[in-house]
Formats: sequence, structure tokens, C-alpha cells
Amino acid sequence: MGSTDKPLVHVFLVSFPGQGHVNPLLRLGKRLASKGLLVTLSTTEGFGKQMAKVNNITDEPARFGDGFIRFEFFKDGLDEDDSRRGSLDQYMAQLELVGREEVSRMIKRYEEQNRPVSCLINNPFIPWASDVAESLNIPSAMLWVQSCASFAAYYHYNNGSVPFPTETDPEIDVQLPAMPLLKHDEIPSFLHPSTPYGVLGKAILGQFKNLNKPFCVLMDTFQELEHELVEYMSKFCPVRTVGPLFMDPSPKVITNTVRCDMMKADDVCIEWLDSKPPSSVVYISFGSIVHLKQEQVDELAHALLNTGLSFLWVMKPPLPGLGLQLHTSPEGFLEKVGDKGKIVNWSPQEKVLTHPSVSCFLSHCGWNSTTEALSSGMPIIAFPQWGDQVTDAVYLVDVFKTGVRMCRGEAEGRIIPREEVEKCLREATGGPKAVEMKENALKWKEAAEAAVADGGSSDRNIQDFIDEVKRRSTKVDYAAATNFPTKSSTTAELTSDQNPANGEVGIGES
Ligand code: UDP
Repeated sequence: MGSTDKPLVHVFLVSFPGQGHVNPLLRLGKRLASKGLLVTLSTTEGFGKQMAKVNNITDEPARFGDGFIRFEFFKDGLDEDDSRRGSLDQYMAQLELVGREEVSRMIKRYEEQNRPVSCLINNPFIPWASDVAESLNIPSAMLWVQSCASFAAYYHYNNGSVPFPTETDPEIDVQLPAMPLLKHDEIPSFLHPSTPYGVLGKAILGQFKNLNKPFCVLMDTFQELEHELVEYMSKFCPVRTVGPLFMDPSPKVITNTVRCDMMKADDVCIEWLDSKPPSSVVYISFGSIVHLKQEQVDELAHALLNTGLSFLWVMKPPLPGLGLQLHTSPEGFLEKVGDKGKIVNWSPQEKVLTHPSVSCFLSHCGWNSTTEALSSGMPIIAFPQWGDQVTDAVYLVDVFKTGVRMCRGEAEGRIIPREEVEKCLREATGGPKAVEMKENALKWKEAAEAAVADGGSSDRNIQDFIDEVKRRSTKVDYAAATNFPTKSSTTAELTSDQNPANGEVGIGES
């Protein structure tokens, strides 16, 4: 690893165990490593083992650009088949209980090994990681893995500055500053009183209660995509846009050597796509967690048959321990479809979205899938279920104008019938709407490329962040000499009587 006199600046990334969390954090890690830092990525051992089955993962530092990446996982204290894994409430509590100790122990060990941690970066759902960093006197940052719009929704909810739906008033609209009016089912659903996933909302809000701890909030979005809102939120938090992290400007040969997929991607589907005409295939995937009802799968299948469109469909096995059934396609479906369709367990999504044969993406609108589609110039058929997906769908359809909406979310409580699915499929694959969405998607692709290119908005922010980590690691207070936003210059808070929804935006001192 080169000279041992002066250890490399070491950044410790701690991730919630989920594909949609690890992916953006690893992508950030690659950027930091490529610019000369030592990066350790950690998550739970169970998730780590799953990743190690299909990726070349090692705790030895592996060279990456000018720096190094290594992996090290921590135990969550539960046996593989422990029933608490099936209960989000119990699992989140256990993860915090054990995670606090384990992460703290790792940091102390790195110090003894002459690899002291200069900065800890965590993603949402594990707000306790910021406490651990603070207790050990280590600077920390948070990588927000959703849109700035979702960030703003949680921020204002936590501050109580804007009315949100309540048990007694569950259907009110929400007007947040610098954002379109959101209906009650368009705010991140974990904030709705009827959400069955309250524990996840609580975990994310825990991060907002801890927002004074990270010196910086890195966001996997880009300035040009959410311009007005990023500027607005920067008045209150040290926000730095660094995305789309998916678009790594380093040569692909390097970036693809380090990956964290939880399942082996079916590479045969790329060969299959190669055999299809340009813009002829609908790509269908609902991310790593969403599991549709079998009736909904049947309706999608019938709609595909009725349109006669070619498709590549990811039907991943359900997450273990939740008692969910493997999806099946309707009887005779595969025979009728023949070579027009392909179903796989897991796809190399990044490659699929940039493949010329793919015309549009039927997606659950997770933020990774959303940014990957935008960066690839790919229109979306929005099929959100919960969490930030419902807010992302609003932005895709009404703001970015690259999407058509197929449903409002799981809370709607209905199966979308084949006729509606069919209508969306036709709209997104032919006619003026399809042309308009493609044109807009290509504009976002161009803007995303410019943001991550040398000297682009996200590239500059990453460089500023690295410079700041280096300054802090020398324990010299250069805050006055840098243009990096410091907590004192940005953590103003809205007070509840300065409700921006009522016209006036007020900034009070924190
Ligand atoms: N993904 C993939 N292959 C698949 C399905 C998903 O590589 O077949 C990746 C996708 O590229 C994205 C992540 O898994 O980076 C899913 O994240 P997202 O935020 O879209 O959804 P989540 O899984 O968190 O709901």
C-alpha cells in the first residue's frame, strides 16, 4: 500500500444492508478512492456474505485509481434463521444495538493499525452511525441516497414547519417550499400516518434529529436536476450534490471490477438484447425489495401479451424470511411470448438501461433506478409502491417530464388492470408522448454527464469534500479559509410560525 510513514486519508463508509443503499455508497467510495483515498466499506456480515458470493470482495486494500478500496463487515448478532430478521421493528432495534458497538470497535482498531479514520460516511436508516463518529471525535458526513425533494419533505416534517397529513386529517395536500404541491399520497409514504412501515420513517427521521452531527450532507442527485430546491435547502443544511454517482467518469474497466450486487446478474440477457432491434424492448424491474401481488404480475403479463411488445422482466426471488411466494407467469404465457420476452432473476441493470434496444423502463421508481434511468436517457413508466418512490414518480412525470404514471402507490390498494397497463405501455413506446419523453430524457442524460465531468457541479463538490476531509484529518481548523459550507453557516432552521407554505419563508437562527 505504499509508504507506511504517512497513512492514506481513510474514509469509512457504513451502509444499511440493502442493495439500494450499498450501491450509491460504494459508487461514492469509488470516486473517493479514485482520487487517492483509502476507502473501507462496511455493512452487516449477512449482507456482506451475500455480496461476496457473486463479487470479488476482499478485506485487503485493492488498488482503485489513485487510492484503495477494502471491505470489512460486522455481525448483527442474529443467526441466519433468527425470526427477528422477518420483523423490521425488531431487526432495526437489534442492528442499532449491535451496530453501535461493532462500528465503534472497528474504528478503534483502525487507529491501532495505523489506519485512523478521517471521516465516517453513513447512509440513512442507521442514524446512530453519526453518534458513534461524534463519540470518537471523528468528522462524519451522510450520503443521502434519495432525491433532494424527499430530503426536503423529511426535513420540513421533522421541523414541523409545514402541515402534513395526520390521523385526523389524513388527506391534506402538502405544499413545501420550492416544490410542486404534493397530494397526501405523494409525500414519502413513510411520513403518512397510515404507513405500515413506520419504523423506517422513524429511522430516517432519526437522521434528521442528528443532522447537526455530519459536517456535510452529500446527495446522490445533481444541481441541475433539482436546482431551485438544492439552493433552497442549502440555506438550512450543508448540502453537496455529488450525483448521479451511477455515472462514474473513470474508465469502465476499472469501475466494474468492484461491485456489490446481492445476486448474480444474468449476463445472457445482454446477448438477448443485442439480437433485438433498436428501441424495441420494455425493461421491467421493481428493484431489490418491492414484491408485487401475484394478481398484479398476472395483469402485467396479460398487458404485455396484448401489446405484443418485447420485454426483459426481472422477476427476482422474494427476500428470505418474509413468507413471500416466488412469482410465476400465467399458464402458457412463456410459450405464447416465445423469443419476444425474457424473464430473469436479476439483471445487470446499468448495462440494460444503456442498451440501444431498450425503449423504456417500467420501474418502481426507487431513487437509484430513477437516477440510473435519467442518466441513461431512458423514459420511465412509473409504478411506485411506497417510501420515496411515490414522490420520485411525481417528479418523473410532472417535473422531469420523462415518465407516464401507471399507479399512485401501494396505499391505493388496488390491482392495476391490464387495460390500464396496456395504455401506459403504448403511450411510452409510440406516438408523440413517447417522443417527448425520450427527448427530455436525453437532455437529462446530457446534463448528468456535464455534472460528473471534470469541473462539473458534482465533480467540484466531490473535490471540495475531499479537500475538506483532508483539512479536518490534519486537525487544523481551516474552516474560515475554505468555501466549504460549515455547520454554523448553514444550519438555520425554519420556525413553525414561519411557515413557507403560507407565503413567507423565514430563516431563524438555530
Ligand atoms: N438492480 C440491478 N439489477 C436488477 C434490479 C436492480 O442491478 O435486476 C439494482 C439497480 O441498478 C439499483 C438497485 O438495484 O442500483 C435498486 O435500487 P433502487 O433504489 O432502484 O430500489 P430499491 O431496491 O432500493 O427499492
